[in-house]
Amino acid sequence: MKFADKVALITGGTSGIGFSVAERLMRERAKVVIAGRSASKGEKALQKLRKIHSDVLFVQTDVSRSYEVKKMVESVVEAFGKLDYAFNNAGHAEGKPALTHEFSEVDFDNMMGVTIKGVWLCLKYELQAMLKNESGSIVNTSSLDALICSPGTTAYAAGKSGVIALTKAVAQEYGGKGIRVNTLTPGAIRTPMIEAKFENLSVEQGQLLEEKYNSLNALGRIGKPEEAASTVMWLFSDEASFITGQNIIVDGGVSFVG
Ligand code: NAP
Repeated sequence: MKFADKVALITGGTSGIGFSVAERLMRERAKVVIAGRSASKGEKALQKLRKIHSDVLFVQTDVSRSYEVKKMVESVVEAFGKLDYAFNNAGHAEGKPALTHEFSEVDFDNMMGVTIKGVWLCLKYELQAMLKNESGSIVNTSSLDALICSPGTTAYAAGKSGVIALTKAVAQEYGGKGIRVNTLTPGAIRTPMIEAKFENLSVEQGQLLEEKYNSLNALGRIGKPEEAASTVMWLFSDEASFITGQNIIVDGGVSFVG
């Protein structure tokens, strides 16, 4: 159990990829704090995780708000005494999709708040906690949209590209202090974020969308949250002890198929 008694913080840990990482860490006997905006989602996630063991907390947090992020990291250290791992994974696809000339400024600010400012704020306070032990491993979630930059995704793509840049800069700043920082770049992974795209579609439309996703990559299927979680677990672990500043793409081969 290489994660036993380690302490991990997971933003966006109430759902999808983040929840899957929380489950994996809990099964390995780590102590886990999950964060997200919705208290009811947090409570539901906690109920499931507490079936594994009891060293788990939910801290209601909007990662775009500095006071809440500071409090979130303080809660981790107060409850469990240290911070070993952080998964800065909170993200959403909220806002009205539109081309740039029609995209709303409010939606742009909201997207930048969660992607760029949110990840930066988390890093700031997590690093303060990790520097006390001069040790830690951080994974930030980007997206394939940062590399592919499809039309209609400008704010999301720009924000998620920024995550890759933030990761590289921070990895250089803190490598000498025993802290590794890497990026997870998922392609399509079947989580509530992707499920939402199937809502309000007819059965036929849903099948067409499913086929479109399946045809995008070399493996011919959408990924599972556990498949993204495995990469995060590896990046956290000492198995990845010489890996920092890297962007690990988990996309079933979309980015090389083209
Ligand atoms: P998900 O199931 O919808 O989970 C998103 C999580 O982020 C939820 O826990 C959500 O909880 C939380 N969240 C959203 N905005 C937040 C905020 N401002 N502050 C704190 N928490 C917030 O989606 P997912 O697919 O697992 O997404 C996880 C990450 O992977 C995201 O960064 C997403 O952009 C990225 N990603 C996903 C895919 C994919 O295909 N699924 C592909 C590429 C990248 P609340 O709503 O309660 O806040």
